[in-house]
Amino acid sequence: MKKLAIIGLGLIGSSIAHAARRGKLAGEIAGYDASADVQERAGTVGFCDTLHADIGGAVKDAELVILCAPVGAYKDIAAAIAPHLAPGAILSDVGSVKGAVIRDLGPHVPRDVHFIPAHPIAGTEFSGPEAGFASLFDGRWAILTPVPGSDPAAVEKLKAFWQGLGSQVDVMDSAHHDLVLAITSHLPHLIAYNIVGTAHDLEQVTEGEVIKYSASGFRDFTRIAASDPTMWRDVFLNNREAVLEVLGRFNEDLSQLQRAVHNGDGQTLFDLFTRTRAIRRAIIDIGQDTAAPNFGRNKP
Ligand code: NAP
Repeated sequence: MKKLAIIGLGLIGSSIAHAARRGKLAGEIAGYDASADVQERAGTVGFCDTLHADIGGAVKDAELVILCAPVGAYKDIAAAIAPHLAPGAILSDVGSVKGAVIRDLGPHVPRDVHFIPAHPIAGTEFSGPEAGFASLFDGRWAILTPVPGSDPAAVEKLKAFWQGLGSQVDVMDSAHHDLVLAITSHLPHLIAYNIVGTAHDLEQVTEGEVIKYSASGFRDFTRIAASDPTMWRDVFLNNREAVLEVLGRFNEDLSQLQRAVHNGDGQTLFDLFTRTRAIRRAIIDIGQDTAAPNFGRNKP
């Protein structure tokens, strides 16, 4: 394509730019960020061909516009870019929730623009324009959630774009996406934020001890719990129903485990731990993680 516009130049926006450049997917990569500081730092890293002080200039004549800001900012961004979108352009995003994105963006999308929400299942706990890298999406999944009546050719074009970034692509409806991600991503983050918070508040164990003995399991939760607070606040505010649904189920299962521990029911514990170990093996078998001890960390 001639021009790709990226709105929001943090981890995901900069990674898309790096990967698009690697794959020679766009003649011009235009960037915009609401923060002057981020914009300046993006200029220093140099993953955009053009950086725009006004959001309209960034999206003007772009064939593909991708919103890469926190989902809470989408509504205002959509209102600001709508008059400047080119007829026939594809408007997409990378937000971690999809139903709320369709609710917030949908009403602003001009009739002659193809609106196709998307979500790459790839990320790190780092934020900002320096955090991005070209291989972030390699071998990972990107999920497209087209709205009813979407032009199949535009969906194919966006699919090819994500494949060009290195991703595998799945298509599903937004409600199913939000339920799947509630259990695979949102709940694990909530649990990590909770366990790290609880450990920090535990009075009988000092903060020094929590940090010193973290390699016993806690450390792996702290990586997830270090994820961007703005992004994750917006995820929980915008996928409330699906998160509450899986949280209810989680609480029931946790109560069962609590009973098993209380009753000394070793068989129940052993059976569950055997099933969960098989899931870890399946994730490694499909290449979504490394089998190296300790997640491939150099030191135990
Ligand atoms: P990030 O590194 O914090 O980048 C987001 C950028 O958007 C920041 O530079 C932010 O500026 C900027 N921004 C905020 N409001 C804006 C606005 N109104 N207009 C333009 N730019 C604005 O976050 P990220 O990790 O790349 O996440 C971006 C999106 O990707 C989120 O919607 C998230 O749900 C999704 N996502 C994230 C991951 C992940 O693992 N991180 C994975 C998949 C999808 P300030 O920092 O100055 O506010």
